[in-house]
Amino acid sequence: MSTQQKQPGILKAVRGTRDLLPPETALWNRVEATAREVFARYGFGEIRTPVFEDTQLFARGVGEETDIVSKEMYTWEDRARAQSEKAQSLTLRPENTAGVVRAYIEHKLDARGDLQKLFYIGPQFRRERPQRGRYRQFWQIGVEVLGPVSSGSESPVRDAEVLEMLATLLDELGVRGWELALNSVGSAEDRKRYNAALRAALEPVKARMCEDNQRRAETNPLRVLDSKEPADQEIIDGLPKIADFLDDSSREHFAAVRAALDACGVAYTVNPRLVRGLDYYTRTTFEFTVPDGQGLGTQNALLGGGRYDGLSEMLGGPKAPGIGFAIGEDRLILVLQEQDGSRSVDAPHPEWMWAKKLDAYIAPMGAERNAASLALARELRRAGLSVEVGDGTFRLKKSFETADKVARNIVILGEDEVASGTATVKSFATGAQVKVALSGLTKLLRQA
Ligand code: AMP
Repeated sequence: MSTQQKQPGILKAVRGTRDLLPPETALWNRVEATAREVFARYGFGEIRTPVFEDTQLFARGVGEETDIVSKEMYTWEDRARAQSEKAQSLTLRPENTAGVVRAYIEHKLDARGDLQKLFYIGPQFRRERPQRGRYRQFWQIGVEVLGPVSSGSESPVRDAEVLEMLATLLDELGVRGWELALNSVGSAEDRKRYNAALRAALEPVKARMCEDNQRRAETNPLRVLDSKEPADQEIIDGLPKIADFLDDSSREHFAAVRAALDACGVAYTVNPRLVRGLDYYTRTTFEFTVPDGQGLGTQNALLGGGRYDGLSEMLGGPKAPGIGFAIGEDRLILVLQEQDGSRSVDAPHPEWMWAKKLDAYIAPMGAERNAASLALARELRRAGLSVEVGDGTFRLKKSFETADKVARNIVILGEDEVASGTATVKSFATGAQVKVALSGLTKLLRQA
């Protein structure tokens, strides 16, 4: 009998998911650090909600008829493990707004009376067809501003402030050429009237449209406006516009948002077709895009958001108007990499690695010096220096080559040095080589 075992197959990351590796993760961290810093300046605090929730939350909060809920969710029946538990349908979150509003209700944040300004950074999950800029696990950086009406949560100032903050964040990240498209989808009542008008307008023409749009015309006519189907564009352009169905208060609200943006000097265009994919939006909706050819291909929406004045009530909570957005972090990274070659993974010393070479590379001369080298590294690292330790089996030439790639200085620990409590340090910047007492090493490396 052969003792040879069959080679096990190589396991790979699941389709639509990816590993993020260094040094690229340094760019992710920079983006997240900048977002946290900007959000802090605008008075936002972080919220972290669970990655999975009761399926009902998304069915009710996002909407049964949306693409997300009808075909993109990762849902499973979670079996009860004890008699006290009930089996439950759970879903990996496809977006974070519903979870944040659930948490707002559950923790009675409305009782605090003030405006809640929350941000989150985390993975979301949608079973979409993977392509560049579209993944099944992707990251969103988002904010939600919500609270009782008395906290000013309905004010157009909030909409404009959120949009102005986004413009600032994108500018500070160095995103070039972004465009803001804005629309108002009105109140729930406005949308009801608009939906009826759309249905009526679609009735005589829908047979000429693609299959998807025929279905949408029946189930959720607003979605037809989202359609990118080239053959249907002429019909869609001729459909009624939501702007003509807004009541006075929605119209005034939208005008006030635009006036505040104008006052801040944030440029935008009004796009009457921008209705967005989720059911909970009311009044202001928006999207930031980058021009074609900037790393996103056809997925040119960098982020989207809007107002959701009725969402809390839809989830059984108190009246809590709000507005929020979600940035597709994967897409933001693609754009930053595309727009600045020095941020690409292949660039030699990318600026986003924070150009940090390590302070020192310790080269033990002989395996007997390994332990002393590690002890020295521990001391230097605890003093705040960044240090790499080589291996005593390396020849001196290899130690120098390796050190030169990763560190500003090489610290050589040979028999003599260990015996005399010293180290030989060479700076790659100046070429200077000195022997110093270990007690003075930290100071020297800090200065070098
Ligand atoms: P949404 O939650 O659908 O409003 O999406 C907000 C933003 O998340 C979009 O503008 C995209 O940048 C990003 N996004 C949505 N779906 C995906 C996906 N499957 N892969 C990567 N990014 C996504």
